[in-house]
Amino acid sequence: MTEPGLTLDERRAQQAVHARERAAHLASRDQRAPRRSVEELHAVATAAEKRFARSDTDEVLAWVAEEFGDRTAVACSMADAVLPHVVAAHLPWVDTLFLDTGYHFAETLGTRDAVEASMRLTIVDVKPPLSVIEQDTEHGAKLYQRDPGLCCDLRKVQPLHDSLQGYEAWITGVRRDEGPTRASTPFVSWDDKNRLVKINPLAAWTFDELLAYAEEHDVIVNPLVSDGYPSIGCSPCTRRVAPGEDPRAGRWAGLDKTECGLHS
Ligand code: SF4
Repeated sequence: MTEPGLTLDERRAQQAVHARERAAHLASRDQRAPRRSVEELHAVATAAEKRFARSDTDEVLAWVAEEFGDRTAVACSMADAVLPHVVAAHLPWVDTLFLDTGYHFAETLGTRDAVEASMRLTIVDVKPPLSVIEQDTEHGAKLYQRDPGLCCDLRKVQPLHDSLQGYEAWITGVRRDEGPTRASTPFVSWDDKNRLVKINPLAAWTFDELLAYAEEHDVIVNPLVSDGYPSIGCSPCTRRVAPGEDPRAGRWAGLDKTECGLHS
């Protein structure tokens, strides 16, 4: 992280150092070993799911760094930068995938830029093949209202699937306390849809623990979080929630949809 209290010149100097370190990371990443077969990765996931059933965040991430190294990607929605911050302690300059759907809040894009400028991460923007205008032309305007399943598939699920194929493991910020659909989230599992190992190092964290970590470590948090948005997705499909309401109640409110399909 950029240290608080730095002058503008000191910030620029630190960003120049980051740019050099990121370039060195990218050059070394190009030399990495070939991706293992799906069968090998499946066996690794099956053994690890049992081994880490009662583990903790640091133990799991230490294993991830040793087992997968630069073949690891982190998915980050830019609701906050806690997950990449925790991961980067074990894997500096880890690839951090941001699903650039074209429908994000300005605050989310600002958070993405602030994270890239200040943290030892490699942000990878994952873009859908169609721009919003091209999608409107092909499928009609406001597809998210008429068929949000298809819209999420086109703008999130398929682009993420395609971008994950060069990795052996991906890390998500899914937590058990986010709602009934996530209550049994394991630390490690096999992701059959994307054909790689899935790691959920924050599975046992609560929302309050996440916020406490962000405060203690001065980690960037999307300003919408303190404005009534504990869960942040695309702007047309996310509303504020009332105090005490299910944190994910603001996602696709009024529709028979609770997940974008990335984790189901
Ligand atoms: Fe489309 Fe809404 Fe899904 Fe974003 S969250 S991809 S706008 S349906």
